[in-house]
Amino acid sequence: MSFLEIFQSLDFKEEILHIQQKTFRDVLKALSNALYKRMNFEDYLALVSPSADMYLEELAQLSSQITLERFGKTILLYMPLYLSNECRSSCLYCGFSFENKIPRKTLTEAELIKEAEIIHSKGIEHVLLLTGEDYSKTPLKKIVESVKILKEYFSSVSIEIYPMNEEDYKQIIEAGADGLTLYQETYDTEAYRKYHIRGVKKNMNYRLEGPDRGGKAGFRKIGVGALLGLSHPLGEMSFLGRHVQYLMKTYWRSQILVSLPRFRPAEGNFEVNYKVSIREFLRYIFALRIYFRDIGVVLSTRENPNLRDNLIGLGITQMSAESKTEPGGYQGMETLEQFETEDKRTLAEVIKVIQKKGFEPVLKDFDKCIV
Ligand code: SF4
Repeated sequence: MSFLEIFQSLDFKEEILHIQQKTFRDVLKALSNALYKRMNFEDYLALVSPSADMYLEELAQLSSQITLERFGKTILLYMPLYLSNECRSSCLYCGFSFENKIPRKTLTEAELIKEAEIIHSKGIEHVLLLTGEDYSKTPLKKIVESVKILKEYFSSVSIEIYPMNEEDYKQIIEAGADGLTLYQETYDTEAYRKYHIRGVKKNMNYRLEGPDRGGKAGFRKIGVGALLGLSHPLGEMSFLGRHVQYLMKTYWRSQILVSLPRFRPAEGNFEVNYKVSIREFLRYIFALRIYFRDIGVVLSTRENPNLRDNLIGLGITQMSAESKTEPGGYQGMETLEQFETEDKRTLAEVIKVIQKKGFEPVLKDFDKCIV
């Protein structure tokens, strides 16, 4: 069964109700099953459920223990690099949305090299290349050329761009990229329709099957996620969990990564529908870590320094640092950022905090050494 078939066989609202019916007893059973490593998907849903809130401390301890067992005392650090903020799609929550009258910019080759040099000079070895969805300004050829340039500076290049077909992904892998990040934003069909009003991104199913095409093409790392705030988080966590489970089973040679970006203000004054509290956010991260022991969990600079510091060792494995979310940001170009970051500390400051907590900040992509 493909993930699209799984997705289409389920109802978002029913999933929310199903999770809301989980009881304290279900949570205790899930925790006990976790200790004996015999959890099933219903146990994961119990840990996601509101009934698990009063066991947050237990979830944190278990999540921390599993993270240490699987990943040791390390945090991989990476930096995003925006190639372009030009976009033909309109997503109501995004600063790069087509309608927004903002200065648009696609980096020239020389500007891209400059950005790469600045990031590389900080010691970073893992970079994430991002664009908006403008197929004419950042066509496949431009992406391929950009990846080739970045490979001269970094040991690992991942992409977070518009979804492509399998053959295009293969060309990007051949150019040197090893990771694909493609967040679904929301798994709620109604919300997806409401927030994606123009452009290729309107096609929800094409996006849903993007990670599959990436897996078939051979990406070594595949990242998925939901933008928390667009729809009911319980529904998102159910579908995201199913997506992860499917990808882990189907593309077992690839590492699956998950991120749960919480909505941040962007140009356009979009009002978020579902505010996700810190306790809920933590519960979701812990539930993912406890059930999916081998996934990488990524935390961006959308979250504030205090929360990011406290999450070190509790479930996450990768963090971005000193991020600029606009093209040319590292060389001081004044374009518009995709979203506001909360953690504005320098890479050196983040490294210091990680070390103070007894962890090793890894700037190199450690997977490469063992694959
Ligand atoms: S989320 Fe992506 S596709 Fe949507 S407006 Fe922003 S850059 Fe464009």
